[in-house]
Amino acid sequence: MQNQRTVDLGVRTVTYTLTHKAVKRLNLRVKPGGEILLSVPHRLSAAAADRFLISKADWLLRTLEKLEHVPEREGPPIPWQDGRTVLLLGKSFRLTVSKGTPAVWTEEDRLHVSLPCPEDEPQVRRALAAFWDRRCRAVFSESLERQLPPLLALGAERPALTLRTMTSRWGSCSWARGRITLNRLLLAAPMETVDYVVLHELCHLLRHDHSPAFYALVEQWMPDWRRRRAALKALRGAECP
Ligand SMILES: [Zn+2]
Repeated sequence: MQNQRTVDLGVRTVTYTLTHKAVKRLNLRVKPGGEILLSVPHRLSAAAADRFLISKADWLLRTLEKLEHVPEREGPPIPWQDGRTVLLLGKSFRLTVSKGTPAVWTEEDRLHVSLPCPEDEPQVRRALAAFWDRRCRAVFSESLERQLPPLLALGAERPALTLRTMTSRWGSCSWARGRITLNRLLLAAPMETVDYVVLHELCHLLRHDHSPAFYALVEQWMPDWRRRRAALKALRGAECP
């Protein structure tokens, strides 16, 4: 017997194929491309299968990160050239590239890049990537510092912050190393959504799972976290320099 089930892993929901078989043990695997398969003994309930999957959330998210491809878009990637749209903190900016001394700045609804060779796309992208990293660090650190005090009071220690471009998760928390990693793509999201992801990872410093107790902790400081998290779905397939 086979059916599709959806479970909430905290940072994202996943759909998996549950198969009841004449087996003694639960067998969870992820196929290249990100399809999740779980086979279980006949006697195991679907709810118990869901719970098993949730208990493997960290492994599952790590594995999806490796096996899942960047969401495919129609046609070739959009070049980082004059006129393209860039989403930054939930707002659309029009990329405006001009000739001049190297600089990147925003002005109203424009994201300006000035370079000696504005037609050199890899150079435009590199300039934007450096700008993006600086903004990520400033915005994410500000969110972290703002939300950290109550967690410090509960015994958490101030974490280090790492930036990475990831395809299937918005953040991760390596509590043993005292490190939070945030997806650079998150800078495309509205600030209130950035705050949710940062708070989510900060709460992992105190609770390492996605148990109801973990979400109770998140909810204590952010009663509307579900609404904020929903905005992340709109960003699947978004790009950053
Ligand atoms: Zn989490």
